[in-house]
Formats: sequence, C-alpha cells, structure tokens
Amino acid sequence: MKSKTDLIITNSSKLVALKNAGNSPLTGKNMQNLGIIENGAVAVNNDKIIETGTSSDIEQKYSAENIIDAEKNLVMPGLVDPHTHLVFGGSREHELVLKIKGASYLEILASGGGINSTVEATRETSEEKLIRSGRKRVNQLLAHGTTTIEIKTGYGLEPEAEEKCLRVINQLKEDNKANIISTFLGAHIVPKDWDKEDYIHWIVNEGLENFSGLAEFCDIFTEKNAYNLDDTKNILSKAKELGYKLKIHSGQFTDLGATGLAAELGAVSADHLEQVSDEQLDTMKKSGTAAVLMPGVNFFLMDPLYADAERMINNGNIVALATDFNPGSCPSYSMQMMIALACYHLKMTPEEAIAASTINAAYAVDRGGIAGSLNNGKSADIIVLNVEEPAHIPYYFGTNLVKHVIKSGKQIF
Ligand SMILES: [Zn+2]
Repeated sequence: MKSKTDLIITNSSKLVALKNAGNSPLTGKNMQNLGIIENGAVAVNNDKIIETGTSSDIEQKYSAENIIDAEKNLVMPGLVDPHTHLVFGGSREHELVLKIKGASYLEILASGGGINSTVEATRETSEEKLIRSGRKRVNQLLAHGTTTIEIKTGYGLEPEAEEKCLRVINQLKEDNKANIISTFLGAHIVPKDWDKEDYIHWIVNEGLENFSGLAEFCDIFTEKNAYNLDDTKNILSKAKELGYKLKIHSGQFTDLGATGLAAELGAVSADHLEQVSDEQLDTMKKSGTAAVLMPGVNFFLMDPLYADAERMINNGNIVALATDFNPGSCPSYSMQMMIALACYHLKMTPEEAIAASTINAAYAVDRGGIAGSLNNGKSADIIVLNVEEPAHIPYYFGTNLVKHVIKSGKQIF
C-alpha cells in the first residue's frame, strides 16, 4: 500500500539533499559533500518535506496527486539570500558610467552621490510604492530560485522613514511568498542632515526599543566615513540587551577590528570581510559567527580585492554567500550568479559555493532548522534547475537556470 502525500518531485539527475548537514552549517572539507542522491526524489506533505530517496524508492512508497517530473534535471533546496537591502526608492544606474571612468564607492559617497541619493528617494517614496517595488523584487528573487531572503532597512535613516521601511519588510513577510527575515540597519551611514552623536543617541535610546517588535536582527555598517568601533560596540551591545540577533557589515574596505568585536558579542554573521585578520577569523570560529561573502559587490564596483574565502574555509569558518542586493553596489537578484562569482573570483569549488548558498546561508539568518537542506520536517522549499550537475550552475553562468520553484510545498514557477 502506498502512502498518500501531496507532492512528489521525482526523476532528477541528482538530488542535492544536503541531509548530512541537517540543521548545521558545513565547514572545511565537509563543504564538498552535498549529500547527493543519484536519480533522487522528494516527497512533500502540506508545506514540509517528509522523505527523500531514490526516485524508485519514493515512487514505490508514495502516491501523490501532484507529481513534478524533473526530467533528469538537478533538484536542490531553495537558495537562501542572507543579505539584501531590497527596500529603497529610486535607482542609481547613472553611477555605472562614473564607475567605468574610475570613481570608487567611497569617492562617489564623498561627492554626495551614492547612498545619499537613495536615502532621499526612499524618504520621498510612499509606503505603498515601496511595498509595490519590494514585491516586484521578492518575486524576481523567487524567480531566480531564492526562497529565503533577509531584508534590511538603512535607506530611511530617520525615525519615520526607518519605521516605514520596517513596515514594508513586514508586509513582504506577511505576503508569505518567500521566507523573509527582517533586519534594522539604522546605522548604515550617518544621515547627512543629522549630527552623528544625535543620530546614534536616537538609535540607542529610542529606535532599537521602538523597533524591537518589527525586526529580528540589528545590523551596522562599520567603516571609515560610517560608524567606528566604539559606535559599533555601543549600538550592538544595546541591541543584544534588547534581544535582537546581531549582524555586521565589516571589513569591506578597512579592517577596523569590528569583526572580532561582533563575534565576541555573539553575532550570527559578519558580512563582507574583504579585510579581516586571522585573529578575528578565530574569534568568529569560536562564536560560530558566519562569514557572509558577497562577490557581486566587488564585481559590480570593479574592485579586484575579493574576500579570501580559501583562508576562511581552511580555517574552519562558516562561509556563506549573499547578493547584497542594493541599488549602489550590487543590484543582482541572482544567487546563481553569486555561486558563479564565488567560483571564478573567490576560488571556491562549485560544491563549496552551493553549500554556502543553501545550508550555510540559512545558518547565517538563523534558519538552519527550516531551510537550506532537504531534511525531513524542513520547509518544502525546492528548486528544479535546467542543468544536470551541481557544477553546471557556475559553468553556465549569467543565465537564470530555474525550471521550477516550489515554496512551502506550492509550485510557484
Ligand atoms: Zn549590505
């Protein structure tokens, strides 16, 4: 007698099950092992994975009204993007020419362009309009196979506008199309119409308290011309006290020592890390802080100083990938592209890059228990790609390889 279930995805070339990872990230040599089941299949009931195995095993055991024939293509967990800034007004394509002519991110910022123009546009854009553009972007991410998405504020940079952006993120969460994780990044840059001390005072004494029900994580951009080590300690300590989980943007251009500080405070992830000392990597290893690398930013900014992923993997750090989707330094919806860039520029193997975009990325947003692998009981977030091998993802770079996307057991593409 076959058991009845809602959905079977069968007849894959390979099923990237990652069951060896379970709820935990993969590190070191274990990143090479994607727990592949040849000609694998997965059975889904309601919104959860109930079993994986070979196609013949699953077909013998289960009958389902809904059967997706993968037609000998690769089946894997939905991709996880643990770092985006997708709520903003305006766009900044005009800066591309400045960059082509050699202006750096910090030069564009210093000239009053860059992020300040996005802050202005975000403040001026209505909540309804931000929800509309946010939905469009979430939909694009889903269409590229990303089913779990972290979203930060950081373009309001004043109380009302930051709160507006948090409400937008929470609306996107309630839409229930993708798993959304909400992050308050009030300390992105110092708003140019505020005194720095006043603004930090607002974050520490009001903003964090007021927004604790709207955001799960608190993040900060620690860098020259933004927030220094003391500011970081001040803001993240208060956030921790209030029950926020912690993230940090650190070491993108300059190592201010904030990566180690964030790890000591128990940050879930430290992101960018083009500049980071061995000592701080050891602190991260001890605290289980994930290193979220975003090679799309270097690519888009034409900055050849990519993060040293190999050093981190050899050191046993938890390495994850993200797009950093944002208007100024990486407007790409594609984690597939990040996998390719990780191979070509971070010298990660295809297996390492895939582990970094699934189970490790889920860990980096504290969703290791529900996403990032095809273990029984996890959310049925599954994608079918138009390729046969894991290595085909970076190999056929620059195109969207998605054939089907199943989110919480429902086929949405
Ligand atoms: Zn960012």
